[in-house]
Amino acid sequence: MAEKYDHKSIEKKWQERWEESGAFGADDSSIKPKQYLLVEFPFPSGDGLHTGHVRSYTAMDIVARKRRAQGQNVLYPIGWDAFGLPTENYALKTGKHPKAVTEENTNNFRRQLKSLGLSFDWSREVNTTDPKYYKWTQWIFLQLFKKGLAYKTKTLINWCPRDKIGLANEEVVDGACERCGTLVEKREKEQWMLAITKYAQRLYDDLETVDYIEAAKAGQRNWIGPSEGAEITFKISRSNLDVKVFTTRPDTLFGATYMVLAPEHPLIAQLSIENKAEVESYVQAAKKKSDIERGALDKEKTGVELQGVKAINPANKEEIPLYVADYVLGGYGTGAIMAVPAHDERDREFAEKYNLPIREIELEDPKEITKKVVGTWVTNFKLRDWVFSRQRYWGEPIPMINCAKCGWVPVPEDQLPVELPQIEKYQPTDTGESPLATIAEWVNTTCPQCKGPAKRETDVMPNWAGSSWYYLRYADPRNDTAFAAQDKLKYWTPVDWYNGGMEHTTLHLLYSRFWHKFLFDIGMVPTSEPYLKRTSHGLILAEGGEKMSKSKGNTVSPDELVERFGADTLRLYEMFIGPFDQPVVWSTQSMTGSQRFLERVWKLEPTDAPLSPKLETLLNQTIKKVGEDIENLKMNTAVSALMILLNEMEAGVSRDAYKIFLQLLAPFAPHMANELAEQAELDPIDWGTWPSFDASKLAGATSTVVVQVNGKVRGKIELAVGTPEGEALAAARITAGKWLELGEKKAVYIPGKIVNFVVRGA
Ligand SMILES: [Zn+2]
Ligand SMILES: [Zn+2]
Repeated sequence: MAEKYDHKSIEKKWQERWEESGAFGADDSSIKPKQYLLVEFPFPSGDGLHTGHVRSYTAMDIVARKRRAQGQNVLYPIGWDAFGLPTENYALKTGKHPKAVTEENTNNFRRQLKSLGLSFDWSREVNTTDPKYYKWTQWIFLQLFKKGLAYKTKTLINWCPRDKIGLANEEVVDGACERCGTLVEKREKEQWMLAITKYAQRLYDDLETVDYIEAAKAGQRNWIGPSEGAEITFKISRSNLDVKVFTTRPDTLFGATYMVLAPEHPLIAQLSIENKAEVESYVQAAKKKSDIERGALDKEKTGVELQGVKAINPANKEEIPLYVADYVLGGYGTGAIMAVPAHDERDREFAEKYNLPIREIELEDPKEITKKVVGTWVTNFKLRDWVFSRQRYWGEPIPMINCAKCGWVPVPEDQLPVELPQIEKYQPTDTGESPLATIAEWVNTTCPQCKGPAKRETDVMPNWAGSSWYYLRYADPRNDTAFAAQDKLKYWTPVDWYNGGMEHTTLHLLYSRFWHKFLFDIGMVPTSEPYLKRTSHGLILAEGGEKMSKSKGNTVSPDELVERFGADTLRLYEMFIGPFDQPVVWSTQSMTGSQRFLERVWKLEPTDAPLSPKLETLLNQTIKKVGEDIENLKMNTAVSALMILLNEMEAGVSRDAYKIFLQLLAPFAPHMANELAEQAELDPIDWGTWPSFDASKLAGATSTVVVQVNGKVRGKIELAVGTPEGEALAAARITAGKWLELGEKKAVYIPGKIVNFVVRGA
């Protein structure tokens, strides 16, 4: 091979060939075993693709290419999660329309992904902002509404004063907006909610049935947060009112010396309180604080006694005082607690501050005591219903119509999609209304039920909506009569393997499992879980070890790297950089190592020489190792196994062994492997078979190990490959013999190469 390795011409040639032949199209009716591999579709930001995308997408591309070579019918699709605030904010900043921005960005992302040689089935591309797509997002919402799982209610929401948008609890981090870091306020607003809590138990229990990495399961369990306890009713004295509390410690009931209501508890308005004005101003102040601020353990507890009102402890009939205090949250449990200062740190702090009795008690049997006071044993969840309204422009319109006579009426299904109107002004408003509210001709419509005048819902869906079901659309992306045909869903789903970021464990993964279970319940999907297996990749950090970000100016662009080194080198480097599930530090300098490896592969030439027994064993070991490592996403050790094999092959390699080497290399560096196979007139690789190893030839390979004492060679030994260190040292000591008489201080073993002993005095 006289020609120099020219990555540009080779990569262009193979990418064009794959594109023209539709090489990676999945077949909806193949009798081969199906394999559905999924990566999280990107949000097409203005920054373009980043190195993290390359890491995740290349790893699953390697799995996809291997599976195809093994004779499986692989679906490996891609699309765009393109609604949402970042596009809208970017559009506002640049003065362009979000639709134009989205088109520009997706075109750029598509070009970048294609330049990496990723084997996506491009014929199935989806875009969440395409009306043909979001027609079905709206359709699923309507089914949720019809089953009572979508409802509108006045609720206190987290409000970001800077983004002018309501946030889900999940989007608030340490009391601040996840996007812009501004402290979140509380606002009362009518919002659409999805009743995910009705699925809490199943979302929790069914984690047992799926193969997710443990961190993902733990994240979901913690988010759903079940706790078992008793619901116990306390009567309010001299009234016919009562209040329910949830407690995980009913055995401490005799120690309850006061009660606390959350500021938003509806009972407060019904009680005849003597200090009403004082209570009212406390309640108003609490409303402005976030749950996280209120729940903080280190915060000083405050509260106001409800004077003139007492509750009755059902265990001993004692009258106890009632407080309103903001450390009790309205959204959790019943919004009221029985305070047991002897057994709860926060209650104790509060009791000490307000001079309330702290009573040590004998613990009761929780089962028994719950029965005695006529309580019920229940499971409560931390999980809250999902706030599904956003007062913005760039999202799916919620397909509901409000009629003064009929109330909320769903848009008839044959009128979907409710298209987002093309408007010039889509800035958020200070009133908290969606910008859609200002377009009278869009808002005013007729009631589908009574045909009277009515108004459209002007809130849009959150950016989590389109990604909650996109993997189903890939099965049948051009269907106009259903979100996907049943036979195609039966063929392709569930997803066999899904890789994505750890940060999506509690939001996207949970939401999509919820929608999927709902669709299963109404008979629209064949299984109750969407993903059989879930893995995650570690973050790529900038060269200094910090997080990569545009604002810090420490990002690297895949475009430049592909231009300079080639896609194959970039792919190989990102796989070799470190353990796939761990964070790793980027180094453009280190890419030259991967580049040199590929240049050496380029120069490798097969001969007619027979395979030596040593190379035959190593070849079989490498087939086994690379295959297993790919399945376990141990991409870095798979690459190093290929490097070891290349070292041996450079001494001489038969055509058959050369072909196997290229087959193993192909998933990692597909352009070069295919080019070399073609030049050597071998069968095309992607459609060939994955090599299998001969188990009888795995063991028995040996390597020559040099024995040194204080750096001087004193002999050589032959050791089986993989000999444990203890055995290697024992054999080396026999060879070193008298040279160790002065007393061995230290032994260093470099497997397969050298044993060096350090002795005293010499
Ligand atoms: Zn914000
Ligand atoms: Zn009506």
